[in-house]
Amino acid sequence: MAVNQETPANPGAIGFIPAPPERMKAKPDETCLDFGKIFTDYMFVMDYADGAWRDARIQPYGPFMMDPASSVLHYSQSVFEGLKAYRAADGSIRLFRAKDNFERMNTSCERLCIPKINPDFALEAMKRLLRLEAEWVPSAPDTTMYIRPTIIAVDPFLGVHAAEKYIFYIILSPSGAYFPDGMSPVRIFVEDEFVRAVRGGMGFSKTGGNYAASILAGAVAKRRGFTQVLWLDGVRQRFVEEVGSMNIFFKVRGELWTPKLNGSILPGITRSSVIALAQAMGVKVVEKDIDIYELFELGARGELEEAFGSGTAAVISPVGMLRLQNRDLIINNFHTGPLAQGLYDTLTGVQYGRLTDPLGWTETL
Ligand SMILES: *Cc1c(COP(=O)(O)O)cnc(C)c1O
Repeated sequence: MAVNQETPANPGAIGFIPAPPERMKAKPDETCLDFGKIFTDYMFVMDYADGAWRDARIQPYGPFMMDPASSVLHYSQSVFEGLKAYRAADGSIRLFRAKDNFERMNTSCERLCIPKINPDFALEAMKRLLRLEAEWVPSAPDTTMYIRPTIIAVDPFLGVHAAEKYIFYIILSPSGAYFPDGMSPVRIFVEDEFVRAVRGGMGFSKTGGNYAASILAGAVAKRRGFTQVLWLDGVRQRFVEEVGSMNIFFKVRGELWTPKLNGSILPGITRSSVIALAQAMGVKVVEKDIDIYELFELGARGELEEAFGSGTAAVISPVGMLRLQNRDLIINNFHTGPLAQGLYDTLTGVQYGRLTDPLGWTETL
């Protein structure tokens, strides 16, 4: 069995397959970059076969040849990560807590019965790819290079089992500012019918299946005029879990509350950064079960001062309104609160190298 071994060895030298000149793409216009639609000329790929990761290489970006019976296509045995590279004012390219992403990927691998990767090697491979594609890292304000490491199971076999063949790959997508017109609070629908994940399931893993389970509720909420869904726990549908693909925070009577990690919540790296920064700012942070009905009571009494989501894509996304059944709760008069703004400014300041980094979260490529 190829699963759950200790951190595997470094698969060795990284090969390079050059792209023919006619395959090289024109760089996009940085002023109107979208999210996740444009990809660079190259990708990093390695294969898992015969019990080891092998054949690490950088090759031209392009489609994989896959058997239609490949297990990932039927049973979703896959994991992914999402992180960014940032262009600093001095032109250098910076990474933020990147090793944490590969360590979290291994946690996801364990749950999905996928062989682990060597995090140091994966980080080095990602840096190699970024150096090759450095010209693609945008420099317009608040743009980033979004990085998507992924592992898929590719055994051509319809039996339900842990696959023996996998592909690990990293693709790069230059992406635009998340809030092109400045941070603006969003309307959130509290979902009390569908659930995203349950304890004992895969909620703590970054895996496609969790997203497949979330699409219907997200689509219904959008149709009703909401940006995202606030997920409740899968058993009592009462305790707050997370919002869309972000973790959630509430400022209550000066304290910062966030749901405690319980197995069905994704342990966000932005979440952990927000907790550390808020504590450094002298704010008391409380990780606990948060009852949505109690939260609405606090809101009605004027004790809920701010709410915001946290995640790599948006960094901080203020919540202006929550709808629970037929009740609306307006938060901070639909304005971005000072704590959300302060955390956003500090986090992006550290990421782009405008502020010092006392916690050692960043590195230059
Ligand atoms: C990726 C993700 C997050 C945010 O994690 P970050 O590491 O902060 O980007 C939150 N919730 C879900 C479901 C996610 O997939």
